[in-house]
Parts: sequence; C-alpha cells; structure tokens
Amino acid sequence: MRISVAIDGPAAAGKSTIAKRIASDLGYVYIDTGAMYRCFTWYCLEKGLNCEDEKACSAVIPEVSIDLKPDGTVLCNGTDVTRAIREPRINANVSYIATYKDIRLAMVDLQRKLAANSSVIMDGRDIGTYVLPKAEVKIYQVASVEVRAMRRYKENMEKGIACTYEDIVEDVKKRDRIDSGRAFAPLKPAEDSIEVDTSDMTIEEVVAKITGIINNKIKELSK
Ligand code: C5P
Repeated sequence: MRISVAIDGPAAAGKSTIAKRIASDLGYVYIDTGAMYRCFTWYCLEKGLNCEDEKACSAVIPEVSIDLKPDGTVLCNGTDVTRAIREPRINANVSYIATYKDIRLAMVDLQRKLAANSSVIMDGRDIGTYVLPKAEVKIYQVASVEVRAMRRYKENMEKGIACTYEDIVEDVKKRDRIDSGRAFAPLKPAEDSIEVDTSDMTIEEVVAKITGIINNKIKELSK
C-alpha cells in the first residue's frame, strides 16, 4: 500500500531527525522540503540578491535546479550545498524566501512530483495543509522554543557551526513568526493532523509514537 506521511511543525522541532529514522525503518522515501527553500536561499545569496526583495528573488526561479539525493546530499545546480544550507546566514533569510508565492509554487511542484510514485514521509510547514492534503497520516510536531533552540544549538556545536544559544532562540522565534504569519500556505496544523509534543520525549519515544500512528492507519486502511 502506498502511504504519504506529512510531518509539519515549527522550526527546529526535530521533524527531519524523526522523519529520516521512520523513512529508513519503513522503507519510505524521505523528502526534506525545508532543504529546498534553504537551497533557493543559498542561490539568492550567492548571486548577491537581497532576500527581502521578492521580485529579484522570484526572477531567478528558472535558474535554480534542486536535487535531493537519497543519502541526504543536497545539490543546487550540481554544487553540493548540504552543509552550506545549514549556516546561520541561511536561517536568517530562508523565511523571507519562503513567503514568496511563485517560489513556493515551484518548490511545491517539485515536492508533489517526488511524492507521486512512492510511499513518502515529507516534512515541512504546509505539507498536510497544502502540498499533500490527502496524506494518509498528518503529524504536527511541536516542542517549546527553549527545547527546540537547545537541540539546534547542540546539533550546531557537533557540526562545528559557530552560534550562540541566544541567537538561536531569536532565530527560531523569528522564523516561527514569519512562517505562521505569511499569507500563502502558512505554518498551521491541518484540521485532521495529530499533534505530537516532543518537549519531554526522547527521539526513540517520538519515533515509536509516530510509527504506531502510521501502523494503525495502515491497519485501518487494509480492513
Ligand atoms: O525545516 P527547515 O527549518 O529546514 O525549513 C527552513 C525554512 O523553510 C522554514 O523556516 C520555512 O520558512 C521554510 N519552509 C516552508 N515550507 C516548508 C518547509 C520549509 O516555508 N514546507
């Protein structure tokens, strides 16, 4: 049975960690939609564009080709940007890029094509509400700002990305505000989504909980 799983939620809620694990356990294709917006942002910054300029950034849509490899490598026009798209300068600008409708439509088109032929687990902000409204399983994954910022801080330290905890708190709050407040496909829970608050949960517990939700759905659909 082909299944689509949507995991939405605010910045740094651990969506990609969980989605990757479940995809590998269940043999689903994992699609990191945030990586696509990050990639687009990287390209705009490389070109010296101001990411707050919608017209200038939207004009480069035809120039940007994004490729997500199964091993997690992200290519932008053939350049490996896997690491670069996690830098603070991308965090600071990506939410502006993600408010522009034409850019979103181009990303959504790519996302739907990737989801068309296999069981997928896709994480983002608007997957359950806009990209895959018919997804069989919709999760809205949340955690407190402090927990999210601390997790991201530790992750950055491990990866050698320089930052302070305070800056991450501000970045996370700012992205949440822009992502929830935009006019087109904002961050919000789908009506039929199940909320999972991971503030006091380990990765193992979250994986087990969401896997249980998926398995129950599969049972229900196979009846
Ligand atoms: O998930 P991640 O933090 O990597 O996403 C980076 C940014 O991309 C988000 O803060 C948001 O602005 C944007 N995004 C989005 N819609 C998605 C995925 C990400 O607007 N489906």
